Amino acid sequence: TPIPPIKNEAVKNFSKNDQLDWDLLKASLIKFTDNGALDIPLVINGERIYGKGTSREINAQTNPAKLSQELATVTQATESDIQAAIAAAKEAKINWVKTPFADRAAIFLKAADLITNKYRYDVLAATMLGQGKNVYQAEIDSITELSDFFRFNVKYAKELYEVQPTESTTGVWNRAEYRPLEGFVYAVTPFNFTAIAANLIGAPALMGNTVVWKPSKYAALSNYLIYTILEEAGLPKGVINFVPGEPNMVTDTVLKDYEFAALHFTGSTKVFKGLYKKISDNIVLDTYRDFPRVVGETGGKNFHVIHPSAPLLHSALSTLRGAFEYQGQKCSATSIAFVPRSIWDDFKTIISESLATIQPTNTSSVDGLSGFSGPVIHEASFNKITAAIEQAKVDPELTIVTGGKYDKSLGLFIEPTIVETSNPDHEFLKTEFFGPLLTVSVYDDVDFEKVLEKVNVNSQYGLTGSIFAKDRDAIRLAEEKLRYAAGNFYINDKSTGAVVAQQWFGGARASGTNDKAGSGNLLSRFVSVRNIKENF
Ligand code: GLU
Repeated sequence: TPIPPIKNEAVKNFSKNDQLDWDLLKASLIKFTDNGALDIPLVINGERIYGKGTSREINAQTNPAKLSQELATVTQATESDIQAAIAAAKEAKINWVKTPFADRAAIFLKAADLITNKYRYDVLAATMLGQGKNVYQAEIDSITELSDFFRFNVKYAKELYEVQPTESTTGVWNRAEYRPLEGFVYAVTPFNFTAIAANLIGAPALMGNTVVWKPSKYAALSNYLIYTILEEAGLPKGVINFVPGEPNMVTDTVLKDYEFAALHFTGSTKVFKGLYKKISDNIVLDTYRDFPRVVGETGGKNFHVIHPSAPLLHSALSTLRGAFEYQGQKCSATSIAFVPRSIWDDFKTIISESLATIQPTNTSSVDGLSGFSGPVIHEASFNKITAAIEQAKVDPELTIVTGGKYDKSLGLFIEPTIVETSNPDHEFLKTEFFGPLLTVSVYDDVDFEKVLEKVNVNSQYGLTGSIFAKDRDAIRLAEEKLRYAAGNFYINDKSTGAVVAQQWFGGARASGTNDKAGSGNLLSRFVSVRNIKENF
């Protein structure tokens, strides 16, 4: 099947009055905020089930930048709803596996077009309001990355299907058949990227699998919108079943099923370990027909190592962006920086002066649309980060360089905060806070190599990291010493912002199974190859 040419969706330019239509964006924001909370149902076998008037629990999704604003009420699945979702996924599978690739692909290509055109401003608004993103962060997530995933997955699937055994002897035809997994896929998706949620459901479904989807309750608004767009694009009922609910109950119910074939997960290392354990316990008990595929992307403690030869302004501003864009709530966010003593004063001045011009803004108000810094996602996160800030105020090995204030009277706002530590083994250099908190370790210039060794040894994670240097020997040394400390390694660039098909995303160690979202590698995890030999 020939497919249309595919390239990365262009990011719209955000200087006001340019390519982005601010009036349309405002109209979409108003639609979600001025009509009361949207009722979000479960969708099982294409049928909408609303919790109101039933015994089901209902969760509220509030705007983290404006806690008084309820955006949505989210129906919570019961155990029997989950069983119904599993049954629907199994039933839908019968036709979905027989659906030609061109038809499956067309649904995702069309959904990508709906997102980049017809629903662009609605998708942006739902992501901004619900997940606390400014317009730029919402654009590079819910519009460009999301549509890139849908489109490039089609290209990668086609390429994968074409890979065939290269040898056939005379009178023999050897071939490979890329079967969807036998059973269904369980997708557990995070709050921080609408695009990631879409890829966690989209990649397996494109390959002919059906899915039970547990979205994050903090992203229900945008995620439900993506579901409805897929439906408009022609997704048959039951192929993806949208079931928000209490995580432990949903997971326990799903993981009991004989036909559970794969987990597709993005979230915390701790939750992923728990899921891994439950799955392996069940394998031992012969609960499943298959060894389920387990694909997960988890946490990180991502580093910037600055070499004395580094371009100063560029490395300081890159560190600011890596650490504080989207309030540090990307798995890839820079959370530790190693800065040589010879440039630390200048580096600190550049960052502090830039940060002084950045006030946390209400990303949901018209004035805040293009503000740099928004809220953190929920109370628990706010409490964890602010507790760390309080610790930094009293711990003799920590000094607050800049920031340190927080205020939740309106929304969950925390100032971008930099903490310097005098102890190169301090727990702040190892703990993931998932927020706007950067820890800096200042080192003597001659100790560059020792710093690299320490970063490697101290990192239980292996997600992203960067070296900033002009000196090629320094760059080479960092590449070598940090070989396993990052699955995405950047030279003179910040540790965030991987682009689909350009930087395949994922890490090893405690950061996940490193199956590389945005590459063809990921899709191979959702097929099970049959080899066929035919004699003539
Ligand atoms: N792919 C994103 C980036 O490179 C991060 C994804 C995540 O937070 O899981 O910044």
